[in-house]
Amino acid sequence: MSTIEGAADAAAGGTQSPDVVVVGAGTAGCYAAATIAREGYDVVVLERKTEEEAGHIACGDALKGADAFPESIPKSQIQSAFTNTDVDHGRFEIPQEDTVLEIPVPGELAVIDRWEYGRKVIEGAGKAGAEFHYDTVVQDVVQQNGTVTGVTATRRGTPIEYEADLVIDGAGSLSLLQDKVDFGRSTFDTNVSYSQFCSAYREIVHVDEPVEWSDALVFKPTERAAGYLWYFPRTETEINAGLGFQMTEEPMKLVEDLKRDLRDRPEFQGARVEDKLGAALPTRRPYDSAVHPGFVAVGDAAGHVNPTTGGGIAGAAYAGKYAGEQAIGALEDGDVSEAALWEYNERVMDHYGARYAALDVYNILSTAVDVDDLMGLLAAMPGDKLAEALYSGSTDIGLKLKLEALLKSRGHWGTIWNLYQTKRRADEVLSHYEKYPSSPDDFAAWQAERDNLMESVYETTGADPKY
Ligand SMILES: Cc1cc2nc3c(=O)[nH]c(=O)nc-3n(C[C@H](O)[C@H](O)[C@H](O)COP(=O)(O)OP(=O)(O)OC[C@H]3O[C@@H](n4cnc5c(N)ncnc54)[C@H](O)[C@@H]3O)c2cc1C
Repeated sequence: MSTIEGAADAAAGGTQSPDVVVVGAGTAGCYAAATIAREGYDVVVLERKTEEEAGHIACGDALKGADAFPESIPKSQIQSAFTNTDVDHGRFEIPQEDTVLEIPVPGELAVIDRWEYGRKVIEGAGKAGAEFHYDTVVQDVVQQNGTVTGVTATRRGTPIEYEADLVIDGAGSLSLLQDKVDFGRSTFDTNVSYSQFCSAYREIVHVDEPVEWSDALVFKPTERAAGYLWYFPRTETEINAGLGFQMTEEPMKLVEDLKRDLRDRPEFQGARVEDKLGAALPTRRPYDSAVHPGFVAVGDAAGHVNPTTGGGIAGAAYAGKYAGEQAIGALEDGDVSEAALWEYNERVMDHYGARYAALDVYNILSTAVDVDDLMGLLAAMPGDKLAEALYSGSTDIGLKLKLEALLKSRGHWGTIWNLYQTKRRADEVLSHYEKYPSSPDDFAAWQAERDNLMESVYETTGADPKY
């Protein structure tokens, strides 16, 4: 069936029966759809936005790991959206200490035109053979004996039903689908709450003169706790300016912080604001399991975001690839059970999930320590080691550096001791995730041991339990 015929059928209502339904035309949904469509299966992507608006997603536009994206959508097809590939480091402004840290960022980095990138991944999945139905708001799931067998949606007021062997949930943060599925027959992670998310807001700002830091991602802590401001240069004169803050904070007051900072920076005098968008993003560990019979969650819908940086584009692309490959195996074997889909969880944990779970430990610490103290400590740390810690979830500092850092950080030794103990807990969490079970049978024991480790995390950090 051609895209046009499919969309026309959907517009007319009734029931459609592709092999796989993907909900959400974001990064995760598009990479999943492209992977499956390339093998010749019928894949329909359902997107609530219009065709024109699809791909327009609130984002800081920083793309890490741009060099190693999955091949189901060739890099050559998305590269024109990479508007700034000269960025190579983070610039951490710490006003409390009157310090600016220039920290190298490992791996290829780019700032992108996010909407253009969004259109390109949709186009790429379309070229791979996936069909897109826009204006289609998924409202519920269909289950038979617990197995998800489709979804119901409305398209401009007309109800439509989609039956499929597998439903891939790429509907983003706090996905509505997960409120609808009865997960009683599986271990799918339902321990999800608002407090594990961050609200983020950004504006696209145009300036007349090139900014001096066009080769850097600029970060700055917000005046209130648990948040940071960013300035990411799409070009020398087009800047993505935004901030992220835990959902426990008051949003409007924080947006004022961004406005004030923009006002106070000379490089933004006379600037024009073009586009304002905000959304929620997960700042938590990845879902313990993101599979249920007939159902797989990918990207933000499964917490696949680095909880310390908020970077989720690359994780979403890889989750899409792994879910797509798992779907192909399940379709070939005619088995969409939890056990048949389980390897998807293992691949996510193996690639980045374990690392993100360890990084979450530092996120938990940040809710319990004084921000000024933490900033003072950061200002005293060797920059490359900080970068390593931020991305790998662990770092090892040699004795000489340790002593240097210790001398510079007089006044923050209590925090250092706290951080040192927290690092030990994070390393324990990391090595436990490296033993993620290879089947649902061993999952309960693994989870119980992980929960014990988390008890020690809360004890060490003094933070309230997050899960
Ligand atoms: C302000 C902000 C700044 C960020 N900055 C960065 C950054 O600089 N770098 C980075 O790597 N990551 C960043 N992230 C995170 C990143 O944007 C996400 O991790 C990534 O977009 C996740 O992709 P996804 O495909 O899982 O979900 P999304 O991109 O959110 O896509 C979900 C799609 O599902 C559709 N949808 C939702 N519900 C339904 C429904 N019921 N029916 C039909 N369609 C539906 C939505 O319209 C959307 O198109 C940021 C996030 C925010 C909010």
